Amino acid sequence: MTTDEPADPAGPAGSAGSPGRAGGPGAGPAGARSSEAAWGEYTRAVHPPAAPTPAQTPLGLPVYRSAAFAFDSAAEFAELLAGSRVGYSYSRVDNPTSDAFAAAVAALEGHGLGTPVVGQAFASGMAAISTCLLAHCRTGERIVAPTALYGNTYALLRGVLARAGVSTTFVDYADPAALERAVAGGVRLVFAETLANPTMAVADLPALARLAHSRGALLVVDSTFASPIVCRPLRYGADLVVHSATKYLGGHSDATGGVVTGAQEPMAAVRAARIDLGGILGPDEAFLLHRGLATLPLRVERACASAAWLAERLRAQAGVRRVDYPGLPTHPGHDLATALFERGSAGTRYGAVVTVTVAGGRAGAAKLCDRLRLIHLASSLGGTRSKVSPVAATTHRQLDDAALAAAGIDPGAVRLSVGLEDPEDLLADLRAALDEATGATPAAG
Ligand SMILES: *Cc1c(COP(=O)(O)O)cnc(C)c1O
Repeated sequence: MTTDEPADPAGPAGSAGSPGRAGGPGAGPAGARSSEAAWGEYTRAVHPPAAPTPAQTPLGLPVYRSAAFAFDSAAEFAELLAGSRVGYSYSRVDNPTSDAFAAAVAALEGHGLGTPVVGQAFASGMAAISTCLLAHCRTGERIVAPTALYGNTYALLRGVLARAGVSTTFVDYADPAALERAVAGGVRLVFAETLANPTMAVADLPALARLAHSRGALLVVDSTFASPIVCRPLRYGADLVVHSATKYLGGHSDATGGVVTGAQEPMAAVRAARIDLGGILGPDEAFLLHRGLATLPLRVERACASAAWLAERLRAQAGVRRVDYPGLPTHPGHDLATALFERGSAGTRYGAVVTVTVAGGRAGAAKLCDRLRLIHLASSLGGTRSKVSPVAATTHRQLDDAALAAAGIDPGAVRLSVGLEDPEDLLADLRAALDEATGATPAAG
């Protein structure tokens, strides 16, 4: 020990912070510059005393902003890379902060299932979906997916996956006979969304799981619009559940991420493909998304209650032609949602996205969006702030009016992601904008 080191080098943390790999008892016979005391200025700057490793559990999630992890021996390094030892080597392979986020989501999705559920975290929802599909499908195999599908998932299936020789049959999941025909003749993977954008169609997850498993296929469910607070698809036989964590899981519109959860076996292939494709979540985003999870039930339950309250009132509002929300008894997926979705003290949670259709098609939708003052006009959903998006001009811009009609979407549809504001303020903003947009009454104030 040199004279300028503190008396107790371990300090309060309980672990000695020896600089670099050299030095300390047993470091071997010291050559002229092999002891720390003889190191030059540059070496000392690059190899400061190691950070303490607290013996006590930190209550905040540590952010392991480290691309690589050092080993004590070549044997340990080799064993870890060979998979015979667990640990961390390189942050594209695994990172403790990213793992903490994935494990937290897996615990929410897998609670009470009786079988272990694990997770892998990704840099975005699309990284999660693409890795999941590439992990489980090979050239010549087929995917069955719904016609009402998140735009980039549709583009992925029609683009990258089609070019890799994985074909997709798109089918209306509301038509069981068509679905039965689609899975006949070999299918590797059935893809579904718990709640479809913008009609809020509810996937019949138990039926889809039976159908997929009867053909030896996997059921992969994008549950972004639901979050595990509204629905937990693994309960109903889904093999893998994917989320864009950018939405409800993070919940604050400040980080992009994705996550896949499922049983150990299908997840092992997802992790292997994730390592090769390189889409792991970074530690800083993992910290933000993990922190978001702490308030997930609070946020989602409140947003669901506000959405249900708004859906009821908007249905009776002048200028509104239609409201799509599974909490409304008139919604075609209402009974299914009541059967499948989670219940809280305030009853079944039906999600926090409400699609409001106004008269006047695209122009009507644009007018409503332009006149809102509190609710943001923005893409994404699931954040603290409410947002609207005119469907035909944004998420479904590739569809012409005929294609929209075939998908059951009116060009005047506006998707509303209900946030955490006072619902009365949201209703007032929507009413004023509707009045102005439809010229029903002059705007107040
Ligand atoms: C946003 C979204 C995605 C893609 O997630 P990113 O984080 O933007 O990559 C996938 N599916 C659904 C249903 C989404 O809403």
